[in-house]
This record gives sequence, C-alpha cells and structure tokens, in this order.
Amino acid sequence: MSGVRVRFAPSPTGELHIGGARTALFNYLFARSAGGDLVLRIDDTYLERSRSDYIEKLITSLRWLGLEWDEGPYYQSNRLAEYTREAERLLADNKAYRCYCSAEVLADGRSEARQENRAYLYPGTCRNLNEDQEEAFRKAGINPVIRLLTPDQGVTMVQDQIRAEVSFENAYLDDFIIIKSNGLPTYNFASIVDDLQMGITDVIRAEEHLSNTPRQQLCANALGYDLPRFAHVPMILAPDRSKLSKRHGATSVEEFYAEGFLPEALVNYMALLGWSPGAGGEEEIFTLDEMVKRFDLNKVTKTAAIYDVTKLGWMNGHYMREYDLDKLTEIAVPFFEQKDLVKSPLTENDFNYLKQIIATVRERVKTLAELADASAYFYHDRFEYDEKGISKHFSKDNTADYLLRVAEELQKLEPYDKESIEALYKSISENLGVSTGRLIHPTRLALTGRTAGPGLFEIMTLLGRERTVERLKKAAQYILNN
Ligand code: GLU
Repeated sequence: MSGVRVRFAPSPTGELHIGGARTALFNYLFARSAGGDLVLRIDDTYLERSRSDYIEKLITSLRWLGLEWDEGPYYQSNRLAEYTREAERLLADNKAYRCYCSAEVLADGRSEARQENRAYLYPGTCRNLNEDQEEAFRKAGINPVIRLLTPDQGVTMVQDQIRAEVSFENAYLDDFIIIKSNGLPTYNFASIVDDLQMGITDVIRAEEHLSNTPRQQLCANALGYDLPRFAHVPMILAPDRSKLSKRHGATSVEEFYAEGFLPEALVNYMALLGWSPGAGGEEEIFTLDEMVKRFDLNKVTKTAAIYDVTKLGWMNGHYMREYDLDKLTEIAVPFFEQKDLVKSPLTENDFNYLKQIIATVRERVKTLAELADASAYFYHDRFEYDEKGISKHFSKDNTADYLLRVAEELQKLEPYDKESIEALYKSISENLGVSTGRLIHPTRLALTGRTAGPGLFEIMTLLGRERTVERLKKAAQYILNN
C-alpha cells in the first residue's frame, strides 16, 4: 500500500478524550505502517463552541503521546471559501438547491413527525423553486440554506474496512443541509470536502460517525470525486458498558497526564482498545515502533472495547519499572514539586537523592502521583501513624524500649549501611530473645507511618542515620505517651 494519506480531525470543543486519542493513534499506526502521511485537521467550523485554548491543548496532548503528524494543522475556518466554492458548483450542476423554509415551518414539520411517531425528513419543499420565487425570497431578505439533492430511492452502500458492507436506505436520507444560512458549512459537507480536496485515502474515525458516511458519500458523488475508504473504529465503553464519562475517573489525555500516567503506557493501552496483534494474543506490551510494524486494520474489532482502569494502572506500573531511571526522575519532578517535596531546579545532590528514592519506591506504585505520595516520608516526618499499625505494632509490650535500644545501637553503628543495619537487627533480636519482626514492624511504622513499603533497610539508609534515630525516638515517645 503506498500513497496512503489519513487525517485526524478533532473538533476543538473540549479536551482530547481517550476515544479521540485512540482514533489519532490508529490513524498514526495506519499511516506509519503503510509509509503514508498523517494530516492534522482542526474541525473548527462550529464557531460558537470552538476555542483556541482547546486547540493548544489538543496539540500538546498529541505531542505528549508522541503522535507526530506530517502535515497541518489545517483549520477548517481558513477554508470557508472552498466549501462555498464547492457548494456553488453543486448549485450550478443542479445537484444542490437553496432552501428558504423558515425555522417555524421546519419546526412544525418536526413536531408533526414526532406526533406521528416517525423520523422527520425534510420534504423537499424548495426542490423546484423557479427564478422568480427565489427572487421574491431574496427580496424579502431571507438567507437560504443550501441542501444536497439526494435520491429518494435505492440504497447508499458504505464499504467499511472494519464492518464490511453497511447499507443505508436513501428513503431515510433527506435533502440535508450542506451550507447553513450563516454561510458556514455543516460538519458533513466540510469534512468530506476536506477529505476529497486533501486527497485523503482512508478515513479512520469513531463509530459514531458511521451514520454520517452515506451523506458524505452522496456529497462526494455529487462533487464528482472518487470515494476514500472508510473505517469506523469501535466505541470505548465503561466496564458496565455505559458511555464512558467523568464518573469513571480520568478520561482525557490531560487528566491522565495529571494523574501521572506515562505516555508510552497510555499509548500501549489505547492500542489494545479494539485492536489485538493476533497470533497468540498473549503479548500486551508494545513500543510504538513495534505497534507500527504489526498494526493491521483488519484486526480491529467491530465490538465495543471496554475501558479497564485497573489494567491501565498495571500497564503504567510496568512501564514505570522498566523506564530509564534518569528519565523517570526528570518527569517525576513536577509531581514531587506539587506535593512540596522538592523544588525546581534541583541540585545534583537533590536529583540523585530523588533518583535513589524512585528506584526503591517505583517497584510498588502505578502512577507518578502515587510515586510522590508514597515517597513523602523521605522528605518530612509530618505523617500520622497508620491506625491499624498502631494497634498491631506499637501496642505490644516493650515496643518503646525496643525502639530506643535500636536507636541507641544505630548511633554507634559503623558503617551505617544496609548490610550492617540488617546484621544489627539480627543481633539485637537474638539478644532480646524476640523475632526480628518484633523490631522491624514497629520500625517501619516509626519511620514511614505505614505498615508496608519498600525494603526497610533500604529506607533506613536513604533516610540516613540522623533522621532514622530521631524518628525512632519520636515513636518511642509517642508509645509511652499513649
Ligand atoms: N470533528 C469530528 C469529530 O471530532 C471529526 C469526525 C471525522 O473524523 O470525520 O468527531
């Protein structure tokens, strides 16, 4: 396949959602795997709802995901003259006509249809106006819309790359509006005019647009262009098969970023929403390059994909553990800053310290935000002791004494390193005739406020002797006071 040209055409009316991002990704994979081009087009003709800050955010999100495009962004708002020109051509060829029906008349028709329980179809009132009638309307100052003249019979067949043939009865497609009375094109018209003029070979987009495709095909036929191929990718639903929404947690790329997901993990996860590389189907971890090599539109499913945040979290954790440590530390800095744990720019020492913390803590967390949360005790001791931990580990007899004993011995320990600390715990517990657990559990609670976490002796070396001893004494005091 050569000469492939696809486009991603978001509307800047909101943040880039996981569905839109997945459409962008499939276009990207399709273009790259065919050695073709990806065009970025901003569908901003819906002027009242389009916002320039959303455009910026869209672009930032796409870049963050690593989905680079080859051309664009093109803006539909810059191409209004093209839509007018193509519509004029259709008028001249009698393939479209001006309609002067008032909003009231149309509304009446609609409510009548509703009462009769049928879908409203424009009845073609203005199909055959003569010059005099049009002149009279114009004189009355009525701004017409332009409608496409559509066939009343037969079917319009959509050859979908994913769904095979989908046919639409022309009797249910009315003479729809292509240019509104304010002179702006409708989505259907602008979209297909762009696709045709820009030489798009494959339109890959969300399933919700499948019902628009017959209308766009009718436009293309009327304009005398060859059709692009169409592929409609399945919806993404929540685990309960409802529409994905705010109540299912993060859904926009920006939110995923803010929660500390890695772009590589999000891309990998999104690719598997509706696509599986086949052959075994067991593998799940792919780099973008590997996905490009294996992507095949024929392996995209027709059925809805289910968004599973647990799996995304698992995948993100996996990527965090595999990530280059320096790189991970760099992108983690803002998350630590947000929690007032570090301050940019970090000194080399601070950076290296953070790096060691991350190396230890990343084994057990799923996101960068969790990473910062789970690392807070390395930076300050303003934490409360876990309630259950208190009753389990602090309330046993002699615990305060044990902690003070450990603190005392730690002060003299040479060298203060993991191995020596471990040996010390062993010898003290033997000496006291208790299990090492009797020392280790309260120590962990004293140092971190938590009952679980990374290796305790690692934590102790990272905290350093002074802070460790201080926190042990503080915990002993707490136990004695309570
Ligand atoms: N602007 C439309 C959307 O965001 C594009 C649909 C299409 O790809 O044609 O849904």
